[in-house]
Amino acid sequence: MKAAQISKPGGDWELVEREIPQPDVGHVRVRVEACGICHSDMLVKEGFWPGIQYPRVPGHEVAGRIDVLGPGVTGWENGQRVGVGWHGGHCFQCEHCRRGDFAMCIKRKITGIDFDGGYAEYLIAPAAALAAIPDELPAEEAGPFMCAGVTVFNALRHSGAQVGDVVAVHGIGGLGHLGVQYARQMGFQTVALGRGRDKEPLARKLGAHHYIDSDAGDAVKELQKLGGARVILATAPNAKAISALVDGLSVDGKLLVPAAPAEPLSVSVMPLISGRRSVAGWYSGTARDSQDTLEFSALSGVHPMIEKYPLNRVADAYQQMHSGKARFRAVLTM
Ligand SMILES: [Zn+2]
Ligand SMILES: [Zn+2]
Repeated sequence: MKAAQISKPGGDWELVEREIPQPDVGHVRVRVEACGICHSDMLVKEGFWPGIQYPRVPGHEVAGRIDVLGPGVTGWENGQRVGVGWHGGHCFQCEHCRRGDFAMCIKRKITGIDFDGGYAEYLIAPAAALAAIPDELPAEEAGPFMCAGVTVFNALRHSGAQVGDVVAVHGIGGLGHLGVQYARQMGFQTVALGRGRDKEPLARKLGAHHYIDSDAGDAVKELQKLGGARVILATAPNAKAISALVDGLSVDGKLLVPAAPAEPLSVSVMPLISGRRSVAGWYSGTARDSQDTLEFSALSGVHPMIEKYPLNRVADAYQQMHSGKARFRAVLTM
């Protein structure tokens, strides 16, 4: 099979021929049809994740079809359309797994980091990492829902915001363009926070009721005119910009951060105390959360905006994502 691998931290993309792997007990082989390129694939490319064994095939926004069922796999069928995302399996035995909180498993695996991912014609995945893809979703759209999609969908649905509450999405990029759509479809009064006026038409097309240009004026003041945001989903990886938004929260408002900026946040605590506000992180979700994301997206007409590249153009596709030029997800097709 063809695969794109990285063989050392900071190494270049290598297109290689590999043996088609065989699934072990509890695993399936997936014939990959599409794989989104996520900003986190940089962790493999640059070696920023401790303990990665190289060579490694990245890719955790995988959509394809089950090709071989390994021994002991039940509940899935050969030929079934499946996605494999960031959550690459769990141990079923640690304290968090015993409580059913598989995303917090202390031995959780990450697809394309702990085992080879979807920048290849086939991958092996644990059955516990599979999400069924609804018929109406094409593979190249299903892929990006397996990390970008589930992260923002799951963050918003667990955010505590109620129907009609003001929810602001900061940053209109890979995560944010999905966040705006989900916020709208979940019934929130949806605010898009972007830099410059040029993103306003797109933000409104994605469903934003309001657009705030943070370059033009005081975003906090604009949010407070709406009563403050119950939730601000911060998707732009800019610590200074994120920190400045705390005062735009309503009473009991939550600044929710699902993707890590490089720098620490700097937040005054008084506004948190005086308005019972909070700053919180969000961690992805399980395979079933991904399947919920796929199903909700199909049901409500949420679509990722994608640029497709064949696998042999992986270097161009990665560069496009990395430069921030991709509108908004680069997806490899096999
Ligand atoms: Zn990702
Ligand atoms: Zn566990």
